[in-house]
Amino acid sequence: MLSSYQVRPLESMSKDAMLAYHEVDLKTRRTIQPELGDLALGQVVNVGDKIATLLISMIFRIQREGELNRLVILRPPPPTHANIFKGDVSFPCVNLVDIIKTGDIILGRVKIAWFKPIFMSLDTEETGVVSGLCSNCGLVIPTPCDLSKQTLICPRCGGSRKTKISKLYNPMLWREIYHINRVRTLPPL
Ligand SMILES: [Zn+2]
Repeated sequence: MLSSYQVRPLESMSKDAMLAYHEVDLKTRRTIQPELGDLALGQVVNVGDKIATLLISMIFRIQREGELNRLVILRPPPPTHANIFKGDVSFPCVNLVDIIKTGDIILGRVKIAWFKPIFMSLDTEETGVVSGLCSNCGLVIPTPCDLSKQTLICPRCGGSRKTKISKLYNPMLWREIYHINRVRTLPPL
């Protein structure tokens, strides 16, 4: 069963609020517009000195239904883009392109209640890069060696990069969720 290992990291989103999700639906069923406070998942399509642009594929929302907390994965109307400004990454850098690379997959928090483009912030533990590419050789780096140092080290070429890493960093997991929901990604993922 896929769900046993997929549900665990998603549940850890609730750590701060001590919420218990009684139901996690990994397959997107509905198309919705993102709202303030949602988590949005997307792949970086362009990054410059001050702003990164992502193509958003999924929205994660906690829904309360009586005593139940449901974590639902929803789909935004395609194409939905998101912008992340340098001041919203919660990580020091001279230029945004130094820490965010085209092809990275990022989980962010929707910070402004209007739609298109979404403005995202990486200001919580679960937000940040969840799947990162090696700057040297382009490999998808399987795991951060040390999350506290916010450094990704490539097992193939030894190259390293510093970035805002999400505590939900796990390229295999997110690729699986992309696969389940038939989301196409930029190469090489
Ligand atoms: Zn490498």
